[in-house]
Amino acid sequence: MRLERQRIGHAVRTNQWLAPSELRALQVQKLKALLSHAYASVPYHRRRLDERGIRPDSIRSLADLDKVPVMSKQDLRENPLEDLVPKGLKIETCRRAYTSGTTGTPVFVLVDRDAFAWRRAYLERVADALGLDPWEHRATLRFTFPKFDPRGDPANLKLKKWLSRRRNRYSREFFFTYDCLEILYDLLKFKPKVIQGNPAYLMNLTHALKDSMRPSLKMLGSSGDTLDLATRRELESFFGCPLYEAYGSQDLGPMAWQCRNREGLHMNVDGYVFEIVGKDGGLASGESGRLLVTCLDNYAMPVIRYEVGDEVTLDPEPCSCGRGLPLMKRVDGRQSDFLDLPGGKRISPQAFVSCINQVAGLPRFQLVVKTPADLELRLYAQNVSSLLVQESLRRCHELFGRVVSLNVVLVKEEPRAKLRSVIPNPDAQTLGITTSPVT
Ligand SMILES: [Zn+2]
Repeated sequence: MRLERQRIGHAVRTNQWLAPSELRALQVQKLKALLSHAYASVPYHRRRLDERGIRPDSIRSLADLDKVPVMSKQDLRENPLEDLVPKGLKIETCRRAYTSGTTGTPVFVLVDRDAFAWRRAYLERVADALGLDPWEHRATLRFTFPKFDPRGDPANLKLKKWLSRRRNRYSREFFFTYDCLEILYDLLKFKPKVIQGNPAYLMNLTHALKDSMRPSLKMLGSSGDTLDLATRRELESFFGCPLYEAYGSQDLGPMAWQCRNREGLHMNVDGYVFEIVGKDGGLASGESGRLLVTCLDNYAMPVIRYEVGDEVTLDPEPCSCGRGLPLMKRVDGRQSDFLDLPGGKRISPQAFVSCINQVAGLPRFQLVVKTPADLELRLYAQNVSSLLVQESLRRCHELFGRVVSLNVVLVKEEPRAKLRSVIPNPDAQTLGITTSPVT
């Protein structure tokens, strides 16, 4: 296993400098092997390919992949486990990688040892590119709500926390349920050089750290939600270090990341096939579309053309750092967070965040979509000037048009950990927040 890990680490280090055409050839080679395996031994995939009359050898290029049916979270949820894994798989040797569960019932993907080694190697590639030494401590902030935690009760979670600490002394996860004050003592004692997490968790940490010593960090890492410019600036100036974005998920692994040049997010195309599709299939370059992902390294539970639930935009230009890994220009947001306005206009969370960020002195904010025609802009501050409110309203109306009714409310409480830029379903997310309207 150790030799295999070294081989994987070496491949991942060298792959990033391959030319785009060589990377595409590598993807096709890995894709063919994965499809043959899935067809030969995974009942779910065999059935679906047979239904469409597709044989693995009829997929000869990445463009052919669109013949294969799309896989959804629902498919993972509704099919019995033995249908989704190869016959004879030793399930006890695999790990279960769960989705976060914040956007529906959590599902999991079984990850075998090799796939896990690939995922670790992709993470190491990022650390290496950003000049992080292996012995420099990395802390990951994780939110957990016992009620939603699929792994069991809080006692079980305590055990998991202890286990994750034992596993690696340089990289540690810090779980919190309400806010970062709960983990502050342990986090500072750990002396991290990097802190990574959802942008809202990082903001929550700045509130918790207000009255204590700030850790001296080399960098921050953000993933898991749309990062707006104001939050990025605030975090970078609070911690006095650069922030790098990454894109990935628990179930699928690390998919894209920023190098030091920060021109976009390099996609790990040596381990994944990324497809961007529009409503009717084809897309022009530079357009935003639904992301479908195929994981090329995980043979325990093949994930092929999986609907991630996010919309992204690709960048046709290469990065000036010279890596062959193509760029994702931006993550436009969760599909479920897109605003479908009366009259058919569709607005991405990213477009809303960029628009509202042009308001000078804007505090933390959140857009709650009560109905498509009834929106509420929450401003998290003790006081705001009427000028700021007017300017926010003007910007929003410019973007949304006059077809929506928009109220601005002031929230005097500190933002909760799970603060998202856009909330499509207010009931699930606004536990215990009192709001007062601003006129
Ligand atoms: Zn680059």
